[in-house]
Amino acid sequence: MLIDLSELLPYQEGEREYPVSYGKEMLSAYEVSSAPEFVLKILHSRDNDFRVLAEGSLRVMIPCARCLEPVEQTILFTADRSFDLSSGLDTDGDECVFLTDKVLDTDELIADEALMNLPIRVLCRENCKGLCETCGANLNHGPCGCGEKETPTRMAEAIMAAMNAAKNKK
Ligand SMILES: [Zn+2]
Ligand SMILES: [Zn+2]
Repeated sequence: MLIDLSELLPYQEGEREYPVSYGKEMLSAYEVSSAPEFVLKILHSRDNDFRVLAEGSLRVMIPCARCLEPVEQTILFTADRSFDLSSGLDTDGDECVFLTDKVLDTDELIADEALMNLPIRVLCRENCKGLCETCGANLNHGPCGCGEKETPTRMAEAIMAAMNAAKNKK
């Protein structure tokens, strides 16, 4: 949603609320599965001094770090930005990426905040088995067949034999 803040300039000491939801299908490289509506508040104290407040959440599909299956995650965001509308700079002197010619792009604001809260690593389940290094099959769906003739069964047999031998000694 685009909000032309220059239209609010005559209303000093003003406060407005806008029902907003994130409008894009992607957040960076990730698919947005749901974007609930939230309230965006714009405060105009005087002259070019503006402050924008927002708090909400997005549901985003993020690939599992082991098997790459998409996992739905809730990303929370909180925005509290004070800026000068004429310069487009915030109180730290940084450029506000969500402002273009005095127009506020709510999607840019939300993306800017939500990206900071993206989890570094997501697992589909705690004991995700990941992908087979040989054939790339998802091992959560069952064994892929690679390495079937290798030693694990023989190892197990050897251990069983050793345990039986130990039992017989007693
Ligand atoms: Zn996984
Ligand atoms: Zn395999």
